[in-house]
Amino acid sequence: MDAKSILQNTFGYSTFRGIQEEIISHVGAGKNALVLMPTGAGKSLCYQIPALLRGGTAIVVSPLIALMRDQVEALKQYGICAEALNSSLAPGERAKLVRRIRAGEIQLLYVAPERLLLEETLEMLSHIQLSLFAIDEAHCISQWGHDFRPEYSQLDILIERFPGVPRIALTATADTPTRKEIVARLALGEGSVFATGFDRPNIRYEVTQKDRVFTQLVRFLNEQEEGSSGIVYCLSRKTVDDIAAKLGDDGFTAIPYHAGLDQQIRTQNQDRFLNEEGTIVVATIAFGMGINKPDVRFVAHIDLPKSIEAYYQETGRAGRDGLPARAWMCYGLKDIVQRKQMIDSSESCDQRKQVEHRKLNSLLGYCETAECRRKVLIRYFGEEREAPCCNCDTCLHPVPTREGLHEAQLALSAIYRTGQRFGAGHLIQVLRGGDNERIKRLGHDQLKVYGEGAAFSDNEWHSMLRQLVAAGHVKVDVENYGGLSLAPSAKPILKGEEKISFRIDPRPQTGAAAKTKKRAAIENAFKTDKQRELFNRLKAKRTELAKEQGVPPYVIFHDKTLTEIVLAMPKSKNEFLQISGVGESKLERYGSLFLGLLEETSY
Ligand code: ADP
Ligand code: ZN
Repeated sequence: MDAKSILQNTFGYSTFRGIQEEIISHVGAGKNALVLMPTGAGKSLCYQIPALLRGGTAIVVSPLIALMRDQVEALKQYGICAEALNSSLAPGERAKLVRRIRAGEIQLLYVAPERLLLEETLEMLSHIQLSLFAIDEAHCISQWGHDFRPEYSQLDILIERFPGVPRIALTATADTPTRKEIVARLALGEGSVFATGFDRPNIRYEVTQKDRVFTQLVRFLNEQEEGSSGIVYCLSRKTVDDIAAKLGDDGFTAIPYHAGLDQQIRTQNQDRFLNEEGTIVVATIAFGMGINKPDVRFVAHIDLPKSIEAYYQETGRAGRDGLPARAWMCYGLKDIVQRKQMIDSSESCDQRKQVEHRKLNSLLGYCETAECRRKVLIRYFGEEREAPCCNCDTCLHPVPTREGLHEAQLALSAIYRTGQRFGAGHLIQVLRGGDNERIKRLGHDQLKVYGEGAAFSDNEWHSMLRQLVAAGHVKVDVENYGGLSLAPSAKPILKGEEKISFRIDPRPQTGAAAKTKKRAAIENAFKTDKQRELFNRLKAKRTELAKEQGVPPYVIFHDKTLTEIVLAMPKSKNEFLQISGVGESKLERYGSLFLGLLEETSY
């Protein structure tokens, strides 16, 4: 069988996407590769097809045990012999699996790095024919990446122990230094890097100013179509618990997920998210690695993420199926202070802290940009884009900016004259001519700047100070409770030698004005009620089948495939096979059943 026949017969797709074909033939020929593609672009096929082509067993290294099951289930549905070797197996099951591995029966074997690195595992693998090693989430190998995992750094043992077996590393996020490090550590060699554009055109990026965060979140959730699933990321476990509970009170199906919860509850909550429609997971970043759910419709950040890489990875979990999805973030000055505090008080070495600060600053630049957000994002990953995307908030509602030298000077001199140690709250009081005890006691009502900024509201000053911090003109002294001080670049502004402009934040919308048109991505595909009804019937059948087999619904068929079935109304097995996402195995399993349903409705 060649690659194309496997794509069509086994996976049910008619053509390769982008550079999949090139990678598959490269790896199929026994060469190493680093594959850089955004989430949802189709990295998995880049190792799955070569694995089947080459014969023998492919070892897939994946960081989280709990999430391998999903991938294994999906492969089984395609009629591929895939298994996961991990600690969740009972001793009897494990012995049985080991026998099957030794007999060379397994085509794709998923393992966590720590298990692979056990001498016992390495020894076992040295006796069987291996097709390749696939190292998923390969950025975990990099010291300077954003998600370093020590066990990943020991994977170089594969070079020594299995010199003839090709290694294919895959990731959706890696800036240039991280890429170089992956290539070096895994000795992938020259000509091994395959990268596609990083753009995720179906994701709409939005960043909004934090005001009353819970209300803002609820407003955002209410804009979602009924039955949409999504993730809400928060920084702390406590926020996760609070927000999940409050959303529950408001009638949302919201479940918490963080590392402080019992393992059993975590697994249970994750399963609910995968298996039930319309579930919202409120989570810390402990959630999501390896989540393959294709129909996550939104990812909301109510706290600032760690870096652009982390943000891109987290938001990248939305819309893997290519249908419209939203990435929404809500942030304020407090978030910046908190993040800086976290970096400075961490145990890391100074060099590492510097890296983290740099990453945070790039993220702040993204948050405060008046440019197309997509341009800023993909530029960070080393690509340039000419045209604005028309699918981000700054494109859809261009951000007005205004010249702001005078206000900037007022703010900077307020910082300077109060001794460079006060936080935003006090400074704004001074600027607006606030009349309180503290101001009088400190004599700040005697300053030249006192009351000079009364023309601007609290919120407007918060916004300007935030932008001055984000632009690096003002430093946050984290040891001193977020006291603000001047950075060297503030000087030319104070002297009037440099221009400065501020973006004017849109006023947070309230009430009826906030109700934007709901997206109806899938429903729009249908012209008649009958089609919509049929789609729902197919979905119900899919849920029933999924329950029976104990797998998530999308493992059976994606929404996209169901949509195509409704539109094409196949009448025979042959026509059913033409539907994207239907291969031979799925035809055999579900063909007659679905064809039967279609026949019933056409009368
Ligand atoms: P990634 O690992 O890059 O995030 P996946 O490998 O999970 O992405 O693929 C994303 C989705 O795209 C999956 O549902 C997959 O079945 C689908 N897909 C991959 N390649 C193709 C293709 N050539 N044609 C159609 N669909 C594809
Ligand atoms: Zn844009």
